[in-house]
Formats: sequence, structure tokens, C-alpha cells
Amino acid sequence: MRILLHICCANCAIYPVSVLREQEHEPTGFFYNHNIHPYQEFRKRLETTRDYASRVDLPLLIHEEYLLDEFLSEVAPQPENRCHYCYRSRLRQAAKQAQLVGADAFTTTLLYSRYQNHEAIVDCGQQLANEFELVFHYQDYRAGWNEGIKISKKLGLYRQQYCGCIYSERDRYAG
Ligand code: SF4
Repeated sequence: MRILLHICCANCAIYPVSVLREQEHEPTGFFYNHNIHPYQEFRKRLETTRDYASRVDLPLLIHEEYLLDEFLSEVAPQPENRCHYCYRSRLRQAAKQAQLVGADAFTTTLLYSRYQNHEAIVDCGQQLANEFELVFHYQDYRAGWNEGIKISKKLGLYRQQYCGCIYSERDRYAG
């Protein structure tokens, strides 16, 4: 299948891309992450993703516009529920993009992370698949957590220290 793969960062893409290729799918990466703050961190993760994609010959679509205001206005009223908006808004863009490029399915590298709410991501992906009449290609990529880290270190990729939004940066450093 031609699969549009939403990429949250290069490190999380390594294992899913290798599995999808082993399964003879054709993944195209899609970077849309208005949850990454501040702007310099956004650029760093974007450039790392671009570098990784070119090293593994992965076609990559990028949404470069920095939609900080949009993200904050959605999550600021209830920051404790922010991850649901974060998943849904990014996966919605991925589904739209998949439809636009005529992909058979879409999925996300968020399914690789041990730190995300896996079940919420799956629910969200399946709902959007129904809405957009696409397939949400599900696989639990967490099994490749250690392998992904090993390859990322070998490639010398930038490895971020917090999830992405300013709230997660605060939780990481201010406790
Ligand atoms: S903690 Fe991570 S998943 Fe949750 S809103 Fe922030 S960036 Fe998104």
C-alpha cells in the first residue's frame, strides 16, 4: 500500500519506516507538528527529519508554517486535556494529506513512542479513517523502541529531551 506516514520526529520514524518497507509498503513521510515549541526547537526537529529522510531516501512532505497561536488557543483553556487535541489535529492533517496525494492509508510514528497514549492515538486514527474513507494502518511499533534508539544514535541524529509543547517542556525541567 501507499502509506502517508505522519512523522512526529526523525527518531520515532526510524523503526516504523524500516518495518513498512520490510512489509513492502511505500511510505511517504509527512511533517506537521504545530505542537513543537519554541520555534528553534521546531526547526531543529524539522531539519533533523529532513536530514534523516534524505539519508534513507524517504519522500517527505512538509508543512513548514508555524501554527503556534492555533495550538495554544485550542489547548490553553484545558491544558490537562491537550494531548487529545494534539493527536487529533495532527492526524487530521495527515488524513487530509493522504487523501490529497491519493495514498491508500495513513499512519503515524506516534505509535512508536512508549510515552504517548497509544490507545487514544489508535481511536483517533480509526475515527478519522472512517471520516475520510481511508485505512488507518495500525501497528504497535513500540516493540522496536530499543532498536530505533540504537540506530538513531548510530546516525548521530538530534534527540530531543521533551515531548514537544511548552507544557511538556515545563514538566520535564520544572517538575
Ligand atoms: S505533551 Fe506531547 S502529545 Fe501532549 S500536547 Fe504536548 S506535545 Fe502534544
